[in-house]
Amino acid sequence: MNYLPQEIIRRKRDGHSLSREEIDFFVEGLTSSTISEGQTAALAMAIYFQGLSREECVALTLAMRDSGEVMEWLGENLDGPVIDKHSTGGVGDLVSLVLGPLLSACGAYVPMISGRGLGHTGGTLDKLEAIPGYNTAPGNSLFRKTVRTAGVAIIGQTGLLAPADGRLYAIRDVTATVESIGLITASILSKKLAAGLDALVMDVKVGNGAFMPTTEASRELARSIAEVATGAGTPTTALLTDMNQCLANSAGNAIEVREAIEFLTTSIRNDRLETVVLALGAEVLQTSGLSTSENEAFSALRQALDSGQAAEQFARMVCALGGPGDLLEHPESHLPLGPVVLEARPTQGGTVTAVDTRELGLVIVRLGGGRTDPGQAIDHRVGLGEVASLGEEVGSERPLAVIHAASEEAAQRAAREVCAAFTVADGTPVEAVPVIHERVATG
Ligand code: URA
Repeated sequence: MNYLPQEIIRRKRDGHSLSREEIDFFVEGLTSSTISEGQTAALAMAIYFQGLSREECVALTLAMRDSGEVMEWLGENLDGPVIDKHSTGGVGDLVSLVLGPLLSACGAYVPMISGRGLGHTGGTLDKLEAIPGYNTAPGNSLFRKTVRTAGVAIIGQTGLLAPADGRLYAIRDVTATVESIGLITASILSKKLAAGLDALVMDVKVGNGAFMPTTEASRELARSIAEVATGAGTPTTALLTDMNQCLANSAGNAIEVREAIEFLTTSIRNDRLETVVLALGAEVLQTSGLSTSENEAFSALRQALDSGQAAEQFARMVCALGGPGDLLEHPESHLPLGPVVLEARPTQGGTVTAVDTRELGLVIVRLGGGRTDPGQAIDHRVGLGEVASLGEEVGSERPLAVIHAASEEAAQRAAREVCAAFTVADGTPVEAVPVIHERVATG
């Protein structure tokens, strides 16, 4: 059917539902550039105001997924399901680095397509690029081989995967149309589902370091993603998890990879991080059928972690993708940190009662660990270590964080910014914040 793009835009503008054929037509035009940037922006704005029904969102997701290569794993004769996790992004959120290998140690195959840091949030791809030699763009055949042999491969998006989303996202970014639940859902899922998944778990952050502005918006996004992915044939559940403070002990790139290695190879694990990793893992092990109950899933995950099997899977992935063979034995020599080390001390001692998590993420960007321009190179060495938690006593003995910077001047500025991001009060009890806020599933 040959539709007119302006008629499709008009129908959405006036609040009508678009048919699957109309959506397919538009996405084909988006991919081949026969539909202009102006028309794409107009449709995005119409969707921003009028929304998308679940059926429209499923149709948009599938059309964008099918605009490029869709991975197919049947021919590989894998002896486990193909699964993945996706997060809306946070600060000190190194879940993917440990959960991917952990799931593969439980019998799954994890082809994880990750992104770079966005705004104040860190990106798994940037973290992995701190590992010397690690190839985040290995090409299809090495990617498939790594998934098959190591059970997990975490790489970056290729231009072949969901190209329609690449064009639509770039236009949304400059036309104030990013913040639409329907468009975000279709954008995230088109890329995730192009990896040919049997099941997915979604980590939607809530709190002052989250991408979504309110808990209600995070809940709505989680519901939308779970329903649309499941409607598109990939059973998906979501957890709303806390981002009112740094998730792990550290935030940055090399420093988070170091913490991930410590998490996998020792029993030193940040409690909040461990809770989120195990909860997301238990969700997707059950959804994919690898575990038949929550208890079974938790014990499989614990066994894979404590036996060192998950660490082995991580080492295999790193080796297969060109990283050093002895990374787990010598993380310090392969993952240098910023040469200037400075403790950020509070002006007065007391209890941490609030953390401006978004601001902590921006401290890392200003240190050079994130970007202010899309093409910019980043300094993988910089970051924050030993970040204090809500409710923790800080003062002359316990700093708010330890800064790793490239220069004395950058370290001093970051120390002032870190102090401003923490609220410290004397004798004020802090109510414990749950790490897992809610579970969202379909039906
Ligand atoms: N991340 C994406 O991939 N797409 C969006 O629309 C928002 C966040």
